[in-house]
Amino acid sequence: MINVTKTYLPSLDEYNKHLKELWKTSYVTNDGPLVRKLEEKLKKYLGVKNLSVVSNGTLGLQIAIKVLNLRGEIITTPFSYVATTSSIVWENCKPVFVDINSKTLCIDVNKIEAAITGKTSAILAVHVYGNVCDVEKIDKIAKKYNLKVIYDAAHAFGVNYKGRSVLNYGDISVLSFHATKVFHTIEGGALVTSDGDSAKRIWFHRNFGHEGSARPDKFLGLGINAKMSELHAATGLCILPKMKNMIRKRKKLTERYDQLLSGCASKMPKTVQGATSNYGYYPVLFESEAQLLKIVKYLNANSIFPRRYFYPSLNTLSYVKYNSCPISEDISRKVLCLPLYYELRIEDVGLIAKLILAKL
Ligand SMILES: *Cc1c(COP(=O)(O)O)cnc(C)c1O
Repeated sequence: MINVTKTYLPSLDEYNKHLKELWKTSYVTNDGPLVRKLEEKLKKYLGVKNLSVVSNGTLGLQIAIKVLNLRGEIITTPFSYVATTSSIVWENCKPVFVDINSKTLCIDVNKIEAAITGKTSAILAVHVYGNVCDVEKIDKIAKKYNLKVIYDAAHAFGVNYKGRSVLNYGDISVLSFHATKVFHTIEGGALVTSDGDSAKRIWFHRNFGHEGSARPDKFLGLGINAKMSELHAATGLCILPKMKNMIRKRKKLTERYDQLLSGCASKMPKTVQGATSNYGYYPVLFESEAQLLKIVKYLNANSIFPRRYFYPSLNTLSYVKYNSCPISEDISRKVLCLPLYYELRIEDVGLIAKLILAKL
């Protein structure tokens, strides 16, 4: 069976080295030494100033909205994973959907201004499949209208734009380290910001508002429990040194798909000029939903399980106010992510491509 993704786990020997230390001290959570070590290593690896790990990316998005004190309407994209929208609604704000650019599949920056009202407080954009948003234009619009900017960077681990981390754009960027992502800690995530005050607020928001372990009776403000445990941090510490190699393998698999599928109708987002890729996903856009369904059925019959990602378009969710986003609605019906993960074999890519081409 070949699934859309397969979680890479470090060797048990390697993981056990961390466990042995943990078993000695019994210090397994609450801003422990492995969490701190992972944060230091991630800052260096990613090239960012402030980074706080959290228990998952969704809580990361919710904390970002809290830290920036967002109210009213938040302009966002309908083409993303449901957590982008649900975290806005969960924080009692209203998502206002702006359609996507059909080439990059990120929010269409030329349509943002028309959606701004007196109630707009922020833009929450997504680097879809790791493809960089038009961060410069978004910056410009945010300055002009005095809006905050959050990037859902769940797909953008290690992606650089014009020579530096794309996570440095906007007020806060949020990563996900879920088991299905390019880099993972099983469950986890991180918030990145260049603003020192926001960094401090993120730090206490994720831990009930506590000032720190030295003063357990002192609270700096409202908080939630979004702490990462030492066991999760240990997973990340085992995997981080392997990232370069893992991304290299993903690149090889991606190039093989490109080669084999180049003749077919599928046209996918090209990496934005000046940006690097982490080869996190291999989305294919079919001519119609009927064609996609036919191919999914055929692949499933051959024990291959791609995923409709993202589907459905988030502006059609039952708990949001619908506004029409024809490009996102159309693309979400026709896009399919093919299996792509570190341990996938190059021959498997050949088999998957062959099966697809046979049904087109
Ligand atoms: C995975 C993902 C999230 C949610 O992250 P979790 O760590 O699973 O909570 C949010 N947004 C996007 C775009 C994602 O792909």
